[in-house]
Amino acid sequence: AGLYMLYRLRQLGMTARVYESGDGVGGTWYWNRYPGARCDVESMQYSYSFSEELQQEWEWTERYPKQAEILTYINHVADRFDLRPDIQLETRVVSATYDEASQRWTVETDHGDKVCAQYVISAAGCLSAARVPEIPGLENFTGKQYHTGHWPHEPVDFTGQRVGVIGTGSSGIQIIPVLARQAKAVTVFQRTPNFSIPAWNRPLPREDQQVWKAQYAENRERARSTRSGILYDYSQRAAFAVDETERQQEYERRWARGGANFTHSFNDIYSDRQANDTAAEFVRGKIRDLVKNPTVAALLSPTDHAIGTKRICVDTDYYETFNRDNVSLVSIKENPISEITTRGVRTEDGVEHELDLLIFATGFDTVDGQYTRMDLRGRGGRTIQEHWAEAPTSYLGVATTGFPNMFMILGPNGPFANIPPAIEVQVDLVFDLVKAAEAASAPVVEVNRETEDGWTATCQMIASYTLFDRAESWIFGANIPGKR
Ligand code: NAP
Repeated sequence: AGLYMLYRLRQLGMTARVYESGDGVGGTWYWNRYPGARCDVESMQYSYSFSEELQQEWEWTERYPKQAEILTYINHVADRFDLRPDIQLETRVVSATYDEASQRWTVETDHGDKVCAQYVISAAGCLSAARVPEIPGLENFTGKQYHTGHWPHEPVDFTGQRVGVIGTGSSGIQIIPVLARQAKAVTVFQRTPNFSIPAWNRPLPREDQQVWKAQYAENRERARSTRSGILYDYSQRAAFAVDETERQQEYERRWARGGANFTHSFNDIYSDRQANDTAAEFVRGKIRDLVKNPTVAALLSPTDHAIGTKRICVDTDYYETFNRDNVSLVSIKENPISEITTRGVRTEDGVEHELDLLIFATGFDTVDGQYTRMDLRGRGGRTIQEHWAEAPTSYLGVATTGFPNMFMILGPNGPFANIPPAIEVQVDLVFDLVKAAEAASAPVVEVNRETEDGWTATCQMIASYTLFDRAESWIFGANIPGKR
């Protein structure tokens, strides 16, 4: 988001400075370099579309891009468009304060930089404030601890290690099979099971890419008009418009193709619980087929939420991994973690699970976490924490009242969709706003309260048509105690 925003601001002839806390560009794909990290949107759809030359010349190697390849791609973009001179790495923004008299922002960094700016734009992402839960005794563990979202740059060797993983969302589901192949023992601490669909990842032949590239512009345009920004095979049929046999055939066909396309098997899966149950039960049946121990299969089978309403996972060998002798599953729903000890994790049944290494795949303080970590102050010195005390809101994901000339890319109530096109849409909107303000010599762009409230109501109305808001998901902040 930051790279593309910079690219666009230069088109306006503006000077811009980009601050980045990492020692390289890439954001999500810079930090989340855990083994098995891969995007679950297909390579041909997970990239920038703003440059025809870029999208024609870049070659992907696999159906789903792995983290290292996406990071290489992002670095290529930074070089190709000569963006690096305006990016200051290893610098975290600690505060931004709006001065009403001068109509300027003062931005301060952890290096003591203090700069004055007319516009402040946050491209800090929506899944970037990695979160380790507060578990008693955390500091006592003598082994190594890692969070998937803050993975070290040097390789971690799991050979001969007893590894514990807390968390079974997209990150946990990706890392667990890789660990199991290397570690001596893997203990998975699962609070809530998630639905996962096989990726069936494979090399991406050049000829297949050529077919896609021949109509890239048209494909992008079509993708942009879909609800997820991804060209899936969206069914136009309701689940009960076909009989049981045909329904099962459709699910089998989608399972065999792999990926999140599965949840678009019928057009009411996200809106009708009974329709959703048919898809959920199909996946639970697959889990029973794949996992040999029926008790483990039952524990791995989600029943608490409608399929797709906590972000669907896409995996390689996830369920099969639980058939291995060196992998065990501890359901911490029934038997919660009571403390972390010097040697491992103790559960309430009194068992101490001894570990050499503990991995937190526990997700992020999403939506507003990356804003509330900064000291952001708008009109009247009001902090973002005060402003969002009830709930984080915005207008279209890009602006919030009381914070003039501050824009967000993928802010609260912004698009929940394929990230690269969502970023481009948001950046283009900010570009248009700044361009219009400059053309009109308007010193300030600000959304008014009424407009922002209207957008919040629209988002709530749309969510109420779906099953999403009934799930305890990070999408609504439910993963942080007291946040929802
Ligand atoms: P996540 O979906 O929020 O999953 C966090 C996991 O940690 C959940 O299983 C959660 O259990 C568990 N957890 C959290 N706090 C806990 C606690 N105190 N005790 C025990 N368990 C706890 O995070 P994520 O897996 O990092 O994924 C976040 C999002 O990033 C995804 O939904 C996706 O949008 C994106 N992502 C995408 C990919 C990809 O493209 N393949 C890969 C990784 C991430 P509960 O469910 O009970 O809260």
